[in-house]
Amino acid sequence: MARYHIETYGCTSNRGESREIERRLRDAGHRKVEGAGAADVAILNTCTVVEKTERNMLRRAEELADETADLYVTGCMALAQGDEFGDVDAEVLHWDDVPQAITNGECPTPTPDAEPILDGVIGILPIARGCMSNCSYCITKHATGRVDSPPVAENVEKARALVHAGAKEIRITGQDTGVYGWDDGERKLPELLDRICTEIDGDFRVRVGMANPGGVHGIREELASVFAEHEELYNFLHAPVQSGSDDVLEHMRRQHRVEQYVEIVETFDDYLDEWTLATDFIVGYPTETDANHEMSMALLRETRPEKINVTRFSKRPGTDAADLKGLGGTLKKERSKAMSELKREVVAEAYESMVGTERDVLVTEEGTGDSVKCYDGAYRQIIVQNADEHGLEPGDFATVEVTGHQTMYAFGDPV
Ligand code: SF4
Repeated sequence: MARYHIETYGCTSNRGESREIERRLRDAGHRKVEGAGAADVAILNTCTVVEKTERNMLRRAEELADETADLYVTGCMALAQGDEFGDVDAEVLHWDDVPQAITNGECPTPTPDAEPILDGVIGILPIARGCMSNCSYCITKHATGRVDSPPVAENVEKARALVHAGAKEIRITGQDTGVYGWDDGERKLPELLDRICTEIDGDFRVRVGMANPGGVHGIREELASVFAEHEELYNFLHAPVQSGSDDVLEHMRRQHRVEQYVEIVETFDDYLDEWTLATDFIVGYPTETDANHEMSMALLRETRPEKINVTRFSKRPGTDAADLKGLGGTLKKERSKAMSELKREVVAEAYESMVGTERDVLVTEEGTGDSVKCYDGAYRQIIVQNADEHGLEPGDFATVEVTGHQTMYAFGDPV
């Protein structure tokens, strides 16, 4: 797990975003240290109120990039003027994406007691613990072991309790939700989703958390058809491919090949008019050649995921990948920068295509200032400003017209 240093500038709302990042990093087992020099990764949560602040933010980003191996820049300036950081050796990310980027490609760790949590109107439901893989770079596996799946009925009851307690969005989590039930000889994610949607009364949405392509491939038709059938399910799949090269996937001991990932994407394209593909790439794995990197870039261009976590490989103690001779820091940074630029282009194109359309959304959280965060049916984030004036608060359903976008989210007005 990583040692991280975090610096926050600006308003109380920005500080709230940093607290949330810290909470998620702590839950995933990462450790906070003081000073970028002592950290594996640094996070700069920026503000952009006046020009002088912007100059300071840029200077601070340059200093931190010199002091630490990996720098993530987030916050208002990063999101509104991400291009300003183009010459800084840093990854520009939305607040919500920082914890995932820092996990080095490993799967998330559910809450230690694996019990549901209600956070505002968001209910977090860990459906199982563990995975069926043994990825060469993963330290999470040591803590979580082989997948251990409670019965479907038990998870349906937990989901029902969350809805009764006020959850409007249920987030289904686990190291690898796609292998839920595999320990009993049958992958049961489609059945679980179908039962949650048909057996629980109420107005709610369900987001399915990370599902590795190796687990999803065998159930892709069934899963896509459940998504198509139930409007409660966000049309959203997070399937981390990690590389566009089968050689590198084999070295990583991933349980899928590139073709299987592409087949999953094609199947979802066949079943769903609109959906969001989220994926992760690790750049600079020790055995990754220039040609392998280009294959990852080509796969990103081909499949055009709308949510992409780019993680620069770093060694985690006790893993097999830590024993390999690493690539130089400069090369890893160059590859990460190239992929991050491509990512911004692909994601911006997706949000650009939304402008002028009307979308049914769920308001999930308060945003910065007097704004709220909403998600449409394909789990794309839309920010509505002046929420008080519009009478919108978390838990409300609304229809909005998309009026514009930033790199990683859209803006909308209620209609
Ligand atoms: S699927 Fe791989 S990265 Fe995820 S927890 Fe299992 S071993 Fe770790």
